[in-house]
Amino acid sequence: MAKQFETIALIGIGLIGSSIAREIRHKGLAGSIVVSTRSEATLKRAEELGLGDRYTTSSADAVKDADLVIVSVPVGASGSVAAEIAAHLKSGAIVTDVGSTKASVIAQMKPHMPDGVHFIPGHPIAGTEYSGPDAGFIGLFQGRWCILTPPPGTDDAAKAKLRVFWEALGSMVDEMDPEHHDKVLAIVSHLPHIIAYNIVGTADDLEAVTESEVIKYSASGFRDFTRLAASDPTMWRDVCLHNKDAILEMLARFSEDLAYLQRAIRWGDGDKLFDLFTRTRAIRRSIVQAGQDTDKADFGRHAMEEKK
Ligand code: NAP
Repeated sequence: MAKQFETIALIGIGLIGSSIAREIRHKGLAGSIVVSTRSEATLKRAEELGLGDRYTTSSADAVKDADLVIVSVPVGASGSVAAEIAAHLKSGAIVTDVGSTKASVIAQMKPHMPDGVHFIPGHPIAGTEYSGPDAGFIGLFQGRWCILTPPPGTDDAAKAKLRVFWEALGSMVDEMDPEHHDKVLAIVSHLPHIIAYNIVGTADDLEAVTESEVIKYSASGFRDFTRLAASDPTMWRDVCLHNKDAILEMLARFSEDLAYLQRAIRWGDGDKLFDLFTRTRAIRRSIVQAGQDTDKADFGRHAMEEKK
């Protein structure tokens, strides 16, 4: 593939940052990759993995020659990163991020962005429950959506360049306003994680069922929740704190619907239960048809079988 940028700076080199680095290298999308992360230990590991061409713990130093800057840190840290890099950005550079919440990231980063720099926030809808530079891999973004939330007045040419970049990583690109993004993600991603953290926490707290029973007899339902509930605590703490309004709105709806389900179970209303379970099954089919999951009988277990 053709080179798209002379220099790309990656601030944060965990699951997402390192997957982007691997893709850029694999596809030859940049003349040079600069890797920056706050800790010496992660930087050293990134270097061992050969993720970049230059390595630094200073994000200010990392961005000075960059045409594209990609910030991949927990959303709560995006404001301090923006403040650090602001004065060192090259005129005409594109600055983007991958944070799971958008309105808060924009509120934190945009005030620091100097004139002449194109700030175009983004969010690849792709991930796993693992974190750190070892967790990244080529193919993470393949066939997945990347949502860009450009502020009004964003330069069309800069937007087009970023879009082409994500397409080169295998993604399909959409644009949304940040508030709408936050609502959509609250229901498709944030709420499922909160429910998973809650159900696994409840099982852990149960007195009538011992912890060893929870682990020993973990049926597929519980097991799938534990995968989500094993996600990075820092990332998910920040998501909850930075998409508070949309999450609380969806949680209120969820609680109402749960009460409806509870009532149907209490009164033995089989028709209501059957209707709901039929409707939800159709949603699963639509997701498979849209290519966002496979129709294999299970997930997780295949990887376990391969490991054996
Ligand atoms: P990760 O694997 O935990 O890596 C986090 C990176 O950010 C590391 O380089 C870490 O540096 C750095 N970092 C952590 N705290 C920081 C702070 N306070 N200040 C500056 N740097 C800090 O995380 P990730 O999964 O790649 O997630 C990165 C971003 O992508 C998050 O905003 C997340 O919401 C978003 N995202 C995640 C997923 C997912 O499934 N994981 C999917 C889509 C988007 P050190 O290791 O040097 O401390």
